[in-house]
Amino acid sequence: MNKWICTTCGTQYAESETPPAHCLICEDERQYIGLGGQTWTTLEKLKVGGYRNAFYEHEPNLLGVETVPEFAIGQHAKLLRTPYGNILWDCISYLDDVTVQLIQGMGGIHAIAISHPHFYSSMVEWAERFEAPIYLHDHDRQWVMQPSDRIQFWKGSQVELNPEVTLVHVGGHFAGSSVLLWKAGANGKGALLTGDTVSVSADRRFVSFMYSFPNRIPLSATIIKSVRNRLQPLFFDRLYGTQANTVIESDAKAGVLRSADRYLEALGRSEER
Ligand SMILES: [Zn+2]
Ligand SMILES: [Zn+2]
Repeated sequence: MNKWICTTCGTQYAESETPPAHCLICEDERQYIGLGGQTWTTLEKLKVGGYRNAFYEHEPNLLGVETVPEFAIGQHAKLLRTPYGNILWDCISYLDDVTVQLIQGMGGIHAIAISHPHFYSSMVEWAERFEAPIYLHDHDRQWVMQPSDRIQFWKGSQVELNPEVTLVHVGGHFAGSSVLLWKAGANGKGALLTGDTVSVSADRRFVSFMYSFPNRIPLSATIIKSVRNRLQPLFFDRLYGTQANTVIESDAKAGVLRSADRYLEALGRSEER
């Protein structure tokens, strides 16, 4: 029996003798099947395949974690260190003993929270190794490919993980797409960790909101307005996207609102705002 991992999206599936017939994440119109067709691997194969996890510092108490060489869609995770325990925001497919030892040395993982299904990756593997709960928004329940007692589906508009960290439901890219608000981030001005619920543009001044990034499918004006309304009340100065360099260092909230307005104008629906 193996826990097969899709090589295109990095999602680990529940144990089975043979690889699953389909990857439901990749067959969804927000993703794609790789050029070589549907292929699968396992964590064991990745371990002997030359992969490793690298760490870097975004700012004090916020580390990025990425797999080298890049695997799947190049997911990054973030390890957020708070006085109430460490939180892993988003997840990656690769996990080895070195990664576990390094993170255990920093106090382990108190909770895992994930923005949306493209970052579910090997979340159950991580949760089991660190004995941590996984917080997923209930609206994305159907995209869990490996059920686990460690998954806690949360409902409603937000949930507080600890006094410094709140998950906020935003929607858009996925019905359950969420962001993490870290009040102590950016020297106390607040930081928003977004996955690709809010995607940082190449100029690092604007962001975008898309139904599908790889297939270039936009969101409707109605949904953009809803996303804008959910982000507007939050206090944050800095915004972290998915990658090491997708960061709006300061005045990020104004950038987010400006971006939503620009999107609505581009759709020619700004009068409905
Ligand atoms: Zn896949
Ligand atoms: Zn995505």
